[in-house]
Amino acid sequence: MAKVNRQWRLRSRPQGEFRKSDFEWREDPVPDLKAGQVLVRNVLLSLDPTNRIWANEADSYLPAVELGAVMRGLAVGVVEASENPGFRAGDRVQGLLGWQDYLISEGQGLSKLPVLAPGQSWTAYLGLYGHIGLTAYFGMLEIGQPKAGETVVVSGAAGAVGSLAGQIAKIQGCRVVGIAGSREKCRWLRQDLGFDGAIDYKLQDVADELRRQCPDGIDVCFENVGGAILDAVLGRINLGARIALCGLIAQYNSEQPVAGPYNFHRLLMQRARVEGFLVLDYAERAAEAFPALAEWHAQGRLKYRVDQVAGLENAPEAVNKLFDGNHQGKLVVLVSAEPE
Ligand code: NAP
Repeated sequence: MAKVNRQWRLRSRPQGEFRKSDFEWREDPVPDLKAGQVLVRNVLLSLDPTNRIWANEADSYLPAVELGAVMRGLAVGVVEASENPGFRAGDRVQGLLGWQDYLISEGQGLSKLPVLAPGQSWTAYLGLYGHIGLTAYFGMLEIGQPKAGETVVVSGAAGAVGSLAGQIAKIQGCRVVGIAGSREKCRWLRQDLGFDGAIDYKLQDVADELRRQCPDGIDVCFENVGGAILDAVLGRINLGARIALCGLIAQYNSEQPVAGPYNFHRLLMQRARVEGFLVLDYAERAAEAFPALAEWHAQGRLKYRVDQVAGLENAPEAVNKLFDGNHQGKLVVLVSAEPE
């Protein structure tokens, strides 16, 4: 019997958060492979804040997802059949496989994944060894350039990228304070990940807490959020501070023009630097980062958690957890069973 490809296609441009009606569920037969093609079965789909950016009408660092097209999504999967000499059945691959069961590809944009250490689940590909690990590693080390003894603040600190970025700064010998949106997340940062401080931005005044918890000011900020949190950080930066601008999640759902940071002048007074970066630009350098990430993980110095939602059908509701914070760690969807 022919395989069926279940898919979520983008039906309309979201206003604010995604609604389920922004997507259309389709089930199509999987066609036979032609010469040069590869059939990939999607195993784990990564849900990322950037999904919301891609759904906008305007192009960003990638073209906008066209209405009617399968929703773009990074995922890891397994090659089920190949008419392409570069791939064999059983190869593990990652790429923009999309919000669907199967991708037929000519092979461009697919990269092969290494075999995991015994006992590691496929979630490690998305939690540590994929784009999340690379973002935290290069964003913190190359853009943030933390030095031992400096004070580092991470916003979105209990999320997938932020939690790794903060631990990498700890490994460099820094004092690290995280900003996150619940008591439980703040407890996790301090007690399980070894952060020196944590601020619950939903319950506490961030500017007051930064004054209290960063008495020597802030040398590095790994910024995932923007808005009022970035403003509070700018108010405490030291001379020569570095702000690694990773994300601005507070504004991805905004329907109104977004105000600039009120404390922008602090960059001038403190001769500070804000630098945006995209993980895409570091893909070629993955081999530099992964051994270090693996070693720190094996030493118990780099921990991560994964929030796994079962079933492709639940992706449209699950993606909004990224915006209400109702998830713990890297958010993924289990699309089909992990191969043996
Ligand atoms: P994540 O942090 O696991 O999930 C997003 C978190 O953001 C939520 O759990 C929530 O945590 C917080 N959040 C959502 N809306 C917020 C708001 N209005 N104000 C404050 N916090 C808010 O997701 P991630 O994949 O690791 O991504 C984190 C950031 O990195 C995003 O900005 C993303 O766009 C960016 N990113 C950038 C790159 C790059 O190449 N530059 C690559 C990957 C990710 P709380 O419960 O703490 O509110």
